[in-house]
Amino acid sequence: MSEDLDILLCAPRGFCAGVDRAVEIVEKSLQKFGAPVYVRHEIVHNKHVVQNLENKGVIFVDELDEIEDKTRPVIFSAHGVSKKVYEDAEIKNIQFIDATCPLVSKVHREAELLNKQGYQIILIGHKNHPEVIGTMGQLPAGEVTLIENIEDIKNIKLNKEKIAYITQTTLSVDDTKDIIDALKIEFPNIKEPIKSDICYATTNRQAAVKNIAAKCDVFFVVGSQQSSNSKRLVEVAKKNGSKESYLVHQEFKLPIDLIKKSKCIGVSSGASAPEVLVDRLIDQIKEIRNIKVQDVEIIKENVEFKLPRELREN
Ligand code: SF4
Repeated sequence: MSEDLDILLCAPRGFCAGVDRAVEIVEKSLQKFGAPVYVRHEIVHNKHVVQNLENKGVIFVDELDEIEDKTRPVIFSAHGVSKKVYEDAEIKNIQFIDATCPLVSKVHREAELLNKQGYQIILIGHKNHPEVIGTMGQLPAGEVTLIENIEDIKNIKLNKEKIAYITQTTLSVDDTKDIIDALKIEFPNIKEPIKSDICYATTNRQAAVKNIAAKCDVFFVVGSQQSSNSKRLVEVAKKNGSKESYLVHQEFKLPIDLIKKSKCIGVSSGASAPEVLVDRLIDQIKEIRNIKVQDVEIIKENVEFKLPRELREN
């Protein structure tokens, strides 16, 4: 028998306070209103979570038009929605419950305030990500300019004197810093958010991966292919010394040969991945090798968000 394989488990990992809250909002809505309740867009980007909720009577739709029974409530996902979606729900007389993460709402309010103060707003984010669509949709079309990388900076057309930037909450901390540095060179007076828009959960999960990546022969990040923060964790692991880094999603096949010849494997999970999927991965590795599992915690998280008023018990 070969020597034991070390598994370093990143902490913090997995569900963040915004995802916890969003899932609880759906569960509480099912209790309060009965099934079915509708959810616009995947409540969080994880198939396991979505399928569990479907089994309990949730119907997922992409748009409000797909809601067949408009007497039932609809929940808006943790990624946030544009203003038009709230207005459409009101016009169609559909009751809605908003599960937008409060840290995404914070960016929405920032955008509105900057716009009122006459700033041209640059949003750093990923095109077509639901959060980016929601954030851009807080203001009329053309008021927010999206950039995805440093190259995009040269295409920014200034139409106001004052300029400010905001960001998506789940970006790579290091890559975003490079984009911000380049923005500051191009626009020395650019206004910054008082506190980074990249959320605490994204920041902590990336720092935890960075902390151990160089020690690991292989790195696994449990998360879905749609999950921005999970994909960023794979990139962070690769950039920081663990070249063989993989996103463990539903269709992923474990690289058995790599596992057989590794001394140390790092494991983390994105903010929308439940811990049961991490346990499942460890069990699968255990079928291939004897393992020694060690938690490597860099910070304790104690963030909690309140439920929306209509679902609070008192
Ligand atoms: Fe909120 Fe951050 Fe979690 Fe997104 S990743 S839901 S912004 S806490």
